[in-house]
Amino acid sequence: GSQKVDRKVDSVCPFCGVGCLITYNVRDEKIISVEGRDGPANHGRLCVKGRFGFDYAHHPDRLTMPLIRKPGVPKEVRPYGVDWRDTFREATWDEALDLAAGTLKGLRDTHGPKALAGFGSAKGSNEEAYLFQKLVRTGFGSNNVDHCTRLCHASSVAALLEGVGSGAVSNPVNDVEHAELIFLIGSNPTANHPVAATWMKNAAKRGARIVLADPRVTDIGRHAWRTLQFKADTDVAMLNALIHTVIDEGLVDEAFVRDRTTDFEALKANVMGCSPEAMAPVCGIPAETLREVARAFAQAKASMILWGMGVSQHVHGTDNARCLIALCAVTGQIGKPGSGLHPLRGQNNVQGASDAGLIPMMFPNYQRVDNAGAHAWFEGFWGTKLDDAPGYTVVEIMHKALAEGSDPHKVRGMYIMGENPAMSDPDLNHARHALASLSHLVVQDIFLTETAWLADVVLPASAWPEKTGTASNTDRMVQMGRRALNPPGDARPDLWVIQQIAARMGLAWDYEGEESGVAAVYDEMRQAMRASIEGITWDRLERESSVTYPCLSEDDPGQPIVFTEQFPTPTGRLKLVPASVIPGAEQPDDAYPLVLITGRQLEHWHTGSMTRRSAVLDALEPLATASVHGDELARLGGGAGGRWWRCVRAVGRCRCACAATMARRAVRCSCPLPMSRRLPIC
Ligand code: SF4
Repeated sequence: GSQKVDRKVDSVCPFCGVGCLITYNVRDEKIISVEGRDGPANHGRLCVKGRFGFDYAHHPDRLTMPLIRKPGVPKEVRPYGVDWRDTFREATWDEALDLAAGTLKGLRDTHGPKALAGFGSAKGSNEEAYLFQKLVRTGFGSNNVDHCTRLCHASSVAALLEGVGSGAVSNPVNDVEHAELIFLIGSNPTANHPVAATWMKNAAKRGARIVLADPRVTDIGRHAWRTLQFKADTDVAMLNALIHTVIDEGLVDEAFVRDRTTDFEALKANVMGCSPEAMAPVCGIPAETLREVARAFAQAKASMILWGMGVSQHVHGTDNARCLIALCAVTGQIGKPGSGLHPLRGQNNVQGASDAGLIPMMFPNYQRVDNAGAHAWFEGFWGTKLDDAPGYTVVEIMHKALAEGSDPHKVRGMYIMGENPAMSDPDLNHARHALASLSHLVVQDIFLTETAWLADVVLPASAWPEKTGTASNTDRMVQMGRRALNPPGDARPDLWVIQQIAARMGLAWDYEGEESGVAAVYDEMRQAMRASIEGITWDRLERESSVTYPCLSEDDPGQPIVFTEQFPTPTGRLKLVPASVIPGAEQPDDAYPLVLITGRQLEHWHTGSMTRRSAVLDALEPLATASVHGDELARLGGGAGGRWWRCVRAVGRCRCACAATMARRAVRCSCPLPMSRRLPIC
């Protein structure tokens, strides 16, 4: 407050899906501090990322000129200590854009539309996501467009669309203040959604019971009434046991099931064999504890389920979410305050990017590309022929990049905006190999990321504080971010770059107005998404900063709690879908005895490209960490707090015999090569 500033600019935190509203304090064209605003998701609160993670925008690593790969330089993981000038040369925008778009166009014309793919971003704005998918569908000519949701909540969304007819949350996070029981599964909110976690802790303090279901008892376990430390990958067994108990002990909300659901008998038949006693040895939770939790969930006035990647990032992630939907439905715990289903969105705009159509099988607002009505509507709306076949997911795109040359659907060219799959893909060696094998890779980013290092053309983009645009948080709030700074050097707003590529691919777009016509793009997107955001006009967002959808008219305040009367399914009812208990895709064996699960660090976010370049965040947590059970640690010969520092410091490609299985051998590797030639996890 006492700092002297040149201006204060209201925006949204660019990190997690909580969507805290912030104010940037700017002096001498630099952000000097960030304050929390009284937004509906944060009420003035910020976590350490939101408060201190702003200086990445000023980092000397920022890309300030377009780059073109030098001829003959092999595409390989960045060798340690190599100067970027050995690999790339600086170029003008015209030269870089002509090369990027011209080569993509040439590949499309020679090999057909399926030869191209786009990987958009959940870190950017809704307008960027909308325009990016429009470019791929109308310019590249196929639906090969996706983003990080594929590796995050796509499985949850599949279950939710099938079950309740909408992929978004039923209740906002801070509705936990009305809950008597909070069932938190596969999520570590104090690290990943820190401000959201404060609402949960407050609820616990006033008496709400938190049930934490997780193979690892994380920080919020201190506030839990019960912790279900179940064996990894046995979610369906544990959840079916809870549903079984509800039915077996006569705790079903009969009226809700009768009036508002379908297929109860199939669900009931499926869980008949899943008694807590039968499932206890499978999931590792005592039968009596399972029964106790099921009773408490069903008998609470309001019970709410929140979940994260621990549920969705499985071969059977969709089944896991189906069980959560069923648990809410049979107990009538949905459609009222303090209840319902909340898949916590990770990236700041993964909800909005999905809504805006950055998905291979859906146009904006989840309208299927193979639905004749939706397809015809978008052909008319965009004034061009569109492919009616779902495109490839990012997983399939990586496979198709490595397909034989004779495959007519081989992906040969790719445009990646603001994502870093060479660091975030679950099968890194495969993804890096796929990206490196492309005939042409265009990467648009703010840093020379691991992915950009494999590109033919690198386009320097704008950081979040350098542009105006909207983002939609985990609570379905569409929120306005405003430009506080100009991009450094010759870096440009992403919206401008997408339009330049589009123009060079022959698309006659005309978005007039300030900042590359952002308001015009938003308005077009709103027309394509009338069923959810019709009432959220640009002017209204400028005035109110945050409006929750569904919002169907300008005087509609927005609907934080949905499904109060019916579900947006074809029948108007929630569809119960049984899930069978099946073993995980991979079981531990003598060669690979450990079950590894993912985790989160409070200070870091999405491959660290931004947070590792924020001085405070990197100083607070300079290392990647692994949590290992004490017994296992003793067996491995380590001690608590010990460091296998090679794992995070070494970079480069390992050329020893163990290269293919290196990532799985992790700490056991006895690679004889010098550090500079090893994989990061060597
Ligand atoms: Fe930003 Fe998420 Fe932290 Fe809020 S909780 S300040 S949105 S990182």
